[in-house]
Amino acid sequence: MKFGTFLYKPQPAEGVDINFYRIKPESGTVGTPNPNMLTNIAVFGDNELTQKHPEWISISKDGPAFRRLTPPKVNGINPGNKKYTLRWDVLCMTNPEVREYNLKLIKECADKTPGISISSQHFADHGFCVCPRCIELWRTSGLNWYDWRAQTVTDFLKEVKEIVASKPLYVNLLPDPVLGRERFGYDFDALAEYADAFVVPMFSKAYPSPWYWEMLARAFKSKLKKPVFTNLYVRGPNDDPKQTPPVKDLLTVAVRIARTGVDGIIFLAENADRIRDFQKAAIQSTDVLQELDGYGGDEVLDLVEKWKSLF
Ligand SMILES: [Zn+2]
Repeated sequence: MKFGTFLYKPQPAEGVDINFYRIKPESGTVGTPNPNMLTNIAVFGDNELTQKHPEWISISKDGPAFRRLTPPKVNGINPGNKKYTLRWDVLCMTNPEVREYNLKLIKECADKTPGISISSQHFADHGFCVCPRCIELWRTSGLNWYDWRAQTVTDFLKEVKEIVASKPLYVNLLPDPVLGRERFGYDFDALAEYADAFVVPMFSKAYPSPWYWEMLARAFKSKLKKPVFTNLYVRGPNDDPKQTPPVKDLLTVAVRIARTGVDGIIFLAENADRIRDFQKAAIQSTDVLQELDGYGGDEVLDLVEKWKSLF
């Protein structure tokens, strides 16, 4: 198993195999590539680009894909779409300007850094996108609606893979192993032809019920034909530490995911210091580590043992 981090600052953490720098998270801000870190790019989830070009938003019959969380107000009204729980604004994925903008950034990062991870490279959810361009593209394709959406998502990944060339390409998949095709346009087998590995974000500010996360990890591992990583939430930007997962729960969920046979676990944090705090708290959790011995997730316990050398 491999272990990694998913960070919002371009400084790698110690004690893991790989570090991802979120050069463009869904907020839409763009940083500077770090040649010592893999690069994560959120593609069609982009709050900043949406501010500049609200007309590029993805559309459903229940309204556009504006987020509800801390949304920008338009004429004093929250425009967020209540029918869907969108965490960020989602642009239409057939928009040529948005594609070109992202493919250019992916190319620059692939040239300068050891690998690429892409997120939100798919439709916003079921019912998207019914903008006039998407409807026209669908009609002329001759395919049924779900096949056209899946082909659109796969073709975009194919374009990304051509740009990334021989560097590793990690593809993030939202955590729905059953209806991913109908909701986001995921054809798991077709995507596996271009992905080097899949990453399943399992972000939560609490992990009191590891049973569900273990089940999801097991489901994805059984379905996907490339290595599977899961991504766990340690502490995001601007988080109150009291509202982040306790170390005991993080270690427990990591061990229970490890025993499903996944190929790696990634930890999300604002920066390398927050990962270091987590590592320190983990090695101090001797009672929890003792309890987790024998669960079948020894790789996580070995990792924590290795972290002792960092302090
Ligand atoms: Zn569209």
